[in-house]
Amino acid sequence: MKAKYDVVVIGSGPAGLAAAVEAKKTGAEDVLLIERATELGGILQQCIHNGFGVEILKKDLPGPAYAQRFIDEAAQAGVELLLDAMVLDVTPAKHVYAISQWSGFAEIDARALVLAMGARERTRAQIRVPGARPAGVYTAGMAQRFVNIEGYMPGNRFVILGSGDIGMIMARRLTLEGAKVERVLEIMPFLTGLTRNYVQCLLDYDIPLQLSHTVNRIIGRSRVEAIEAVRVDEKWQPLAGTEEIIPCDTLLLSVGLIPENELSKKAGVLLDPVTNGPFVDEGMQTNVPGIFAAGNVVHIYDLVDWVTEAGFVAGRSAAKYAIAERQWMARQVKLRAGENVRYVVPHVLEKESLAQADQKLQMRVIKPIEGNVWVQVMDGENLIVRKGQRYARPGEMVTVEIPQKAYAAVQKVDQLSVRVVAR
Ligand SMILES: Cc1cc2nc3c(=O)[nH]c(=O)nc-3n(C[C@H](O)[C@H](O)[C@H](O)COP(=O)(O)OP(=O)(O)OC[C@H]3O[C@@H](n4cnc5c(N)ncnc54)[C@H](O)[C@@H]3O)c2cc1C
Repeated sequence: MKAKYDVVVIGSGPAGLAAAVEAKKTGAEDVLLIERATELGGILQQCIHNGFGVEILKKDLPGPAYAQRFIDEAAQAGVELLLDAMVLDVTPAKHVYAISQWSGFAEIDARALVLAMGARERTRAQIRVPGARPAGVYTAGMAQRFVNIEGYMPGNRFVILGSGDIGMIMARRLTLEGAKVERVLEIMPFLTGLTRNYVQCLLDYDIPLQLSHTVNRIIGRSRVEAIEAVRVDEKWQPLAGTEEIIPCDTLLLSVGLIPENELSKKAGVLLDPVTNGPFVDEGMQTNVPGIFAAGNVVHIYDLVDWVTEAGFVAGRSAAKYAIAERQWMARQVKLRAGENVRYVVPHVLEKESLAQADQKLQMRVIKPIEGNVWVQVMDGENLIVRKGQRYARPGEMVTVEIPQKAYAAVQKVDQLSVRVVAR
């Protein structure tokens, strides 16, 4: 792994994969994709149902098949991977800190960064469901992982709270696996997921949906034994007298996703309080120059196709940003403090500026020299220019000029140092 990349992408769901592939295609020299899981693909790997890619691929694929297309493209494009590695911190200067049990602690610099960390599920604590705390309460995505990846059934008799897509898809999935889904309850007076999922996952399997209903209470000591459902008014307040006990052993919560932006905040990215995702421009750039975002980290998408599209935009913009920065850096010379110099101002010099005029450098020395001195501008051990003076004292600023005639020599270097030494 290198210490610096043109583009670093965090998260390998459809947004991150698309961003990494497109950044490479746009001309980024090196692209690193960091993923905390052991496999690429993000949430798609547990979405074994079909319904992915209808819009942009004109194909109705299962999630893993959709992901595989972009995983293959990333491999062909030469995207570098860091798997099983959790990004812990990101700074506004685009330093990325990641940890992995295999490669240890990694510190990586990015010219451009794409945030594609997806979203996390709302839990029971966030929606404040009252009642006991028995086993048997899961988020729908967690139950999906158990059933589709780990091979466990989390229960036999289910109630699902929330009519979002994950809840409806799990209602069908659990039914296919032999469970009984008693009901889907939705607090809003309307469906919150896609109509196609309502038809294909609930209607086709005779699973009742009750709108304007919620869970009033969870009943059971060590394991869920029942839930109390209740009708709510337009302010989501329970209506007395409408309570109904529904026996079940498992309650699934499908009550929304929250964009995963802990890292974004650390990087100084401003979040929209409505979407909980970063404010972005048309190129998916956040308020921090060179930091881009795509996918559920920005706002919660309904279809994967639009996530992929957003990833393409972010990846393209990130690559252009990195290329422009590299070209800009190639036009600059860094000015370093050498022997007996505390600092040099300016810190960088545009190489072309020497075509127009001599360029004055100012500095302060560290130790006084009470005798003749050289102020020397060096390219390594090669002298570019020097100036003599009778002494050098920390209290008095020292100056030296790089003359126009040094233009050709300066074009060849990317840094110069200045030193003040006895003559
Ligand atoms: C259960 C479910 C069913 C869906 N069904 C459909 C459907 O039928 N059709 C459809 O079109 N769309 C569907 N969608 C929507 C669509 O699939 C998602 O919107 C899309 O997958 C989101 O992609 P993403 O890349 O933004 O996030 P994710 O796929 O969530 O990927 C984010 C990745 O970032 C990684 N990550 C996060 N933090 C870190 C970190 N600190 N360090 C390293 N890695 C990190 C995560 O491990 C993850 O791999 C469904 C979504 C869900 C959740």
